[in-house]
Amino acid sequence: MLLLSVIRIKFSLLQGVAKRLQNCVRESDTVSRFGGDEFMIVLSDFEDEQSITLHTAEIAQNILSELTKSFDLSSNKFMTTTSIGVAFFPKDGHSVAELMKNADTAMYHAKEQGRNNYQCYSDDMREQALTRSTLENDLRSALENQELVLYYQPIVNLQTSEIVGFEALIRWRHPKRGLIPPDLFIPIAEETGLITGIGDWVLHNACQQLKRWHEAGNTSLKMSVNLSARQFMQHDLVEAVNHVLALYSLEPRYLELEITETVIMKNMSQTIKMLKGLQHLGVTISLDDFGTGYSSLTYLKQFPVNVLKIDRSFIRDILEENDDKVIVNSIIAIAQHMGINIITEGIEHLEQANYLKNQGCQFGQGYFFAMPCVAEECLFTVNNFGFESKDYHL
Ligand code: C2E
Ligand code: MG
Ligand code: MG
Repeated sequence: MLLLSVIRIKFSLLQGVAKRLQNCVRESDTVSRFGGDEFMIVLSDFEDEQSITLHTAEIAQNILSELTKSFDLSSNKFMTTTSIGVAFFPKDGHSVAELMKNADTAMYHAKEQGRNNYQCYSDDMREQALTRSTLENDLRSALENQELVLYYQPIVNLQTSEIVGFEALIRWRHPKRGLIPPDLFIPIAEETGLITGIGDWVLHNACQQLKRWHEAGNTSLKMSVNLSARQFMQHDLVEAVNHVLALYSLEPRYLELEITETVIMKNMSQTIKMLKGLQHLGVTISLDDFGTGYSSLTYLKQFPVNVLKIDRSFIRDILEENDDKVIVNSIIAIAQHMGINIITEGIEHLEQANYLKNQGCQFGQGYFFAMPCVAEECLFTVNNFGFESKDYHL
């Protein structure tokens, strides 16, 4: 039932968007749906070159303002964000394929600018696209060439100052470009499908490392592994996780899988099935970057999650910004009520750690405790984490 109503709403929303787009263009223009939530508009019939640019800008602005108005569907209000990429014939391409590719590149730039804006294709974008395509090429051999490496950052029990586990964070040691952070290559890995192999590698290596730490005596440590959207949708994910745990003789309760709100919203019925499968196995699920996406607390009732990781953007100014205090304290209170644990991300200062501890937040993570580092450099001694004491040092 839930799935049906979601599909119905999605369909009505697409129809609503199409109708508004149609109203923004002239009779001679064409609006078509390009797949998913992408639309293509062909503007033609211009008198001269100057009117092309002016008119296109006018239409793009008009579309943006029309689509920022809410859609009333099934007695709910829905908001959309829009990113528009523009390519001109013949300046930006002579063939349909070339024009579409360049408009697409421009659209991605609009997304990167924070959405709700339009961008016209330029040669600079081509440069960047080229860099991206070399990166994409290099990424294909990164696994094989053993250029990927895992860093680990501790997760600390704020109430007892103990390290309870580590989050595995991937980096790419590029032979020419140096250390590349995940934000720059995980999206490429996702789009190209390379994430399946990379994700598998992360899971294996993180579990292997955890096993080593357990064998060295740190038997209560947990390991958190980030899952991207595509990985989460892999139909055999539960079996794959089970296989890795068995391979390293690890009990499932020591593994925590981190997903983001965007991931769980992609396909609700599949998500619920997957989350239940994983929880049935015994691994814990945490919702990463909580507060940056839909942040709907009602979803927490439907989606079985064990942990919320409050995004670092709420922690950064928590001591000065009353709004951040209210938001974080409310999330902590609701989560406690629902039996969900909280990890606050991005703790950089002693005062933030103490404040969150006093608010009853159980777990924290951030540069204040430790920067992510390679396994050999990770600290386990709980003494270093007596963060209320004056002689705190790392
Ligand atoms: P995330 O899972 O939310 O990871 C936390 C990010 O915050 C990490 O960035 C970490 O280095 C950074 N961070 C931790 N403490 C602090 C702090 O006190 N201040 C600030 N400013 N930052 C802090 P990193 O390692 O660059 O990772 C970025 C994102 O890339 C991760 O966000 C995660 O979404 C993704 N990622 C990392 N490793 C993997 C992976 O193996 N697989 C997948 N699919 N995604 C990954
Ligand atoms: Mg994470
Ligand atoms: Mg996060």
